Amino acid sequence: MTVITASVAASKGRVLIIGATGFIGQFVAEASLDSGRATFVLARSFYASPSKAKTIKSLQDKGATVLHGVIKDQELMERLLKEHEIEIVISAVGGANILDQLTLVRAIKAVGTIKRFLPSEFGHDVDRADPVEPGLTMYKEKREIRRLIEECGVPYTYILCNSIASWPYYDNTHPSEVLPPLDQFQIYGDGTVKAYFVAGSDIGKFTMKAADDFRTLNKSVHFRPSCNCLNINELASLWEKKIGRVLPRVTVTEEDLLAAAGENVIPQSIVASFTHDIFIKGCQVNFSIDGPDEVEVSDLYSDESFRTVDACFDDFVMKMEIDRRKSANEGITTKNHGVEVLPITAMCA
Ligand code: NDP
Repeated sequence: MTVITASVAASKGRVLIIGATGFIGQFVAEASLDSGRATFVLARSFYASPSKAKTIKSLQDKGATVLHGVIKDQELMERLLKEHEIEIVISAVGGANILDQLTLVRAIKAVGTIKRFLPSEFGHDVDRADPVEPGLTMYKEKREIRRLIEECGVPYTYILCNSIASWPYYDNTHPSEVLPPLDQFQIYGDGTVKAYFVAGSDIGKFTMKAADDFRTLNKSVHFRPSCNCLNINELASLWEKKIGRVLPRVTVTEEDLLAAAGENVIPQSIVASFTHDIFIKGCQVNFSIDGPDEVEVSDLYSDESFRTVDACFDDFVMKMEIDRRKSANEGITTKNHGVEVLPITAMCA
């Protein structure tokens, strides 16, 4: 058994994941380890927070090798890439650090042996989408990274996974860490514009499948699981079925979202601008994937299934139940969220 795992790991490219302590990076790192690859993670500051230390420890326990450093240090990055014979680099740095990748791209070019680079995208097609500010600034930064990659001739894949499967709060960057509403739904516009919702574990799984697939070389990979194409009215009805009651619905208008974006409070306003782009303008569904440099993930891996939003909502119900029992044991009455509502730290899509 050990021999098989080792040979599978050896036959697949050695992967370096940057941002493995982050929201999206954790899913990718776990999927890389699950796929039996030799997985290296670059840790920046995990000593600073117990939860990051815990994440790193858990990845190490699953077999990851931890390297220390920051991607802005080009010399260090070149040394790490060479020393550890890295073949695939996946970056999931947060929205505030997108431009740190400029140095990383230069390091990858200088080393010259990296077979694939997946920059921190994990959202929409930034060359195509045109959100209002301040989301647009982040897209301009992601575009700048794309252009440098292409100019340098670094082999790449852009992962465009659309929305994370959860309630799409317009002011929270990591909504899958928060329960869907238990008091009222905020419905964007008339609630009929569809979007694609993808479970975090599937973002990781399909990212790793695409990472060295020859069919994704120098291409954008769009995630459009047909089972998870829902509008917000449908999402609300699904959640009502899970919790067994009907909640009031209030409308958040286009003007409300634009006003929230216009406040320019970072990162909440960035999320508001993306929410406007998704649920008012339909940026995930208003184009077809037919360019020569783009592929759809379900076409590539047609025999693989996606976790449904229905199943992801069951997870939330389970979290709620665990929390209820915990509170009952501790003699505490809790009113609402069964999961920790985390501070907003970065930017989505
Ligand atoms: P997080 O802020 O949660 O995590 C960022 C990670 O990058 C952390 O591990 C951080 O390290 C690390 N990092 C940042 N700068 C550096 C650096 N210079 N050197 C080394 N490591 C660094 O990011 P997210 O997961 O929110 O975002 C990742 C990507 O995913 C972004 O492109 C974002 O736009 C997208 N996204 C998409 C979502 C969707 O629904 N489709 C939702 C959320 C994000 P440290 O632990 O030291 O801080």
